[in-house]
Parts: sequence; C-alpha cells; structure tokens
Amino acid sequence: MEERYYQKEIETMPYEQIRALQSEKLVKQVQHVWDNCPPYRKLMEEKGVTPADIKGIDDLHKLPFITKDTLRETYPYSMLAVPLSECVRIQSTSGTTGKRVIAYYTQNDVNLWEECCARAIVAAGGTKEDVVQVCYGYGLFTGGPGLNGGSHLVGSLTLPMSSGNTERQIQFMMDLKSTILCCTPSYAAYIGESLKEQGYKPEDNSLKAGIFGAEPWTEEMRHDIEASLGIKAYDIYGLTETSGPGVSFECSEQKGMHINEDHFVAEIIDPETGEVLPEGSKGELVFTSLDKEAFPLLRYRTRDICVLSRKPCSCGRTHVRMSKPMGRSDDMMIIRGVNVFPSQIEAVLLNEGYAPNYQIVVDRSKNNDTFDVYVELSPEQFTDTVSGITAREKALAGAIRTMLGIGPIVHLVAPKTIARSEGKAVRVIDKRKLHD
Ligand code: ADP
Ligand code: ZN
Repeated sequence: MEERYYQKEIETMPYEQIRALQSEKLVKQVQHVWDNCPPYRKLMEEKGVTPADIKGIDDLHKLPFITKDTLRETYPYSMLAVPLSECVRIQSTSGTTGKRVIAYYTQNDVNLWEECCARAIVAAGGTKEDVVQVCYGYGLFTGGPGLNGGSHLVGSLTLPMSSGNTERQIQFMMDLKSTILCCTPSYAAYIGESLKEQGYKPEDNSLKAGIFGAEPWTEEMRHDIEASLGIKAYDIYGLTETSGPGVSFECSEQKGMHINEDHFVAEIIDPETGEVLPEGSKGELVFTSLDKEAFPLLRYRTRDICVLSRKPCSCGRTHVRMSKPMGRSDDMMIIRGVNVFPSQIEAVLLNEGYAPNYQIVVDRSKNNDTFDVYVELSPEQFTDTVSGITAREKALAGAIRTMLGIGPIVHLVAPKTIARSEGKAVRVIDKRKLHD
C-alpha cells in the first residue's frame, strides 16, 4: 500500500533542511520567550544566557531546563507568554504525578496541535472515508480534543464519544461501523474484553486501526489488543505541556514514533547530570517547542525515559523516532534497592499468558520493602484447583524474579476483581509514600 502523509513536504523533508528550519525558528522563539515570559527570562539570566547567545539549533544546550516543578511553582499562569486576551483555550494535565499544570493555547497553537494529530491519523491509514471513534476523555484532558481536532482536519466522520459507558461505545462502534479507535491502550484492552463477553469475534467489527497512547504500554499488550480487536494498533505520544497527543506518532513500520521536528526539538539527557547524550543513548526526553505562542516551553524535561533514532524509516518520513517510553522516571519504583518499572512486570505477565489486569502494591514492613503483585485470572484459568493456582503463583513470581532480580509475592485473583480503567490505568500503589 502506498504511504500517505498529511503534510508530505514537511514530513519527508531532508534532515539538513529540518535543522535549518529549526535554527531559524529557535532564534525567534528564544527572543519571544525572553521578551514575554518573565519566569524563563529569569532562568536564562541565572544561567548567564541572553538571546544573542542562541544563533541556531547547535546553541540549544546553552539554554536552561524547565521542570514540572517550575510550572507548578508558577501556577496558574506559569509560562504564559502572550496576553490572556490572545488565548482561546486551556487544557490541563491529568495530574498523574501531582498538582495539575495548566497549558494555554492561542488559536494558532490549537491549529498546529490538531495538524500534528491529523498527521498521526493519516499515518495510521485514516482518510475522509473513515469513521473515527474518539474515546479518550474530553474536557481538560488533551486526548479527546486533540484527536477530535485531528480527525476533523482529515475529514473523517468523528464520533466524540469521550471515555466510559462501554456499552454505548460498543453500540456506536457496531451501528456506525467505526474504522479507527482512539483511546488509552488500557481502555482498548477493556473494550476488547467487553466485546468478547458480548459474544463478538474480532472480525465482527469494522475497525482497521487503533491510535493508542497517553500511558505506557508494552509490545506484548500491542499484540493482545491487535488480536482481540482485529486491528493494527499504533502508538501516539504527547504531553499537555507541549500541546497534547501528536508530538510523536507511529507509522506503518511501527518501530518508534516520529517526532514532529518542524514543531518540536527533542534531546536526550542524562537525568542525573543534565548532560546531552548522543543519539541511541537511553535517557530523559527533553522538548523545545518552536512554534507555540502562548505556552512556549524551551528545554522542558518530560521525565519520560526513551531512546532517539535517526535510522532511515521505510515509510519515507525523515523525522527522528523515539522508542516507546518505558515509563516516567517518577513511575520508577525502587524496591529493595532495585529499579522497577511497571512496564517490565506487564511484559512478563503477558508473556506468561495473563491479561494486562494487574496492580503492584509496595509497602514497608520492619524496614523492609514488601512487593506484591495482584494479577487477575481469566474465567478459563479460574477453574483451576487451589493447588494449581498456588503453583501458577510461584511460577509467575519466579518469572518476575528472573526479569527484575527481585521476586514479588504474586496473588492470582478472581476475574473482574481489579478495577478497569477508562483513562489512564493505575498500576502502582506505593504505600511507603503514605508513611513518609
Ligand atoms: P500527566 O503528567 O498528569 O499524566 P498528561 O496527561 O499530559 O499529564 O500526560 C503526559 C504523559 O503521559 C507523558 O509525559 C508520558 O509519561 C505519558 N504518555 C503519553 N503518551 C504516552 C505513550 N504513547 N507511551 C507512554 N507514555 C505516554
Ligand atoms: Zn516511519
């Protein structure tokens, strides 16, 4: 099938040209921020940098970082760099890791963001013939509005479902023959499970693709969702601070997400030292927005850990690719001194034949960390004998120990006992934080 693009010239622009474009935009953006955004100007002054020091993209590393704490400290207007009268919209983070951050948009900012989402939809095969069911949350969360706007630009019939009410999702999906599903991967898995329960087979729906993001998910989970819905599942990434979903998206090759480099410059840094790392190194992703007017973050530390690659891609897009973030640096738990990401445990569960319905509970007892993993059994697995279940628990704990170097106590629980998520799933309950 011939590859299609939403904005071919930009999406396939040779690297040298992208760099030149980035340089030109960066110089202007730094001046805009210096003139209009006092908190960032202060950070620049503290570092002894002025706009005259930034002559192009090679000078990016001279600029100071912005962290989520900077944004929280300056709440509610934080880095606002235009008069409020120029703003037409706010969105806000989900508050997964603390106080919400509010982001501001001019009409131009909304347009650019929606274009990024349109690129993602076209990369997943979307056209004006498609019926796009958007069941990301609408409202302050960026998922719903972002994909909704992108779908309009592509000209697809857009179903603004928002999240939740799974019965109604399924009814509309079947009656209106939705072809592209947009939601969090955990909700996609839940919709797949609900369809099966209602007696539908994967080929009974009209879906061909799904665009899933807003939370970490593993390759194993991708295969599960693709099988249960009969689709090709594409990843999409973004964060409220940089506009929302669509900062990067997967193409047909599905090996990493292309970052929209005409709007965002990506760097990978060592999270400890802040030093910029060479291509191919794993580290913290940092974004500089080149075109955003109202909320133009320079060198924003995402806390997401991933790897960048400039290897040519078979889809023809030239923009750099980021690997699936393996989790945020603040999702990482340190259990008995070992770094643990929920995604590592998820990968083991799916490999061992369990569904991605699990919860990790960490606590402290007598100065020792306790580590429990609750995993739901499918109805078929649940018919096992008690001794059979105990043996399964031991085997799973062993597999997790092999992966992490430390073993949890595994509790296999009855079907439907772990709460399903309609938005971002809650995978970890760290009770140690409550005692601190
Ligand atoms: P919050 O930080 O409160 O969750 P957002 O709703 O803006 O606010 O979420 C942005 C974060 O969601 C990203 O920094 C990243 O950690 C996570 N995220 C978004 N898309 C993906 C994805 N495709 N894969 C993994 N994580 C993702
Ligand atoms: Zn590609």
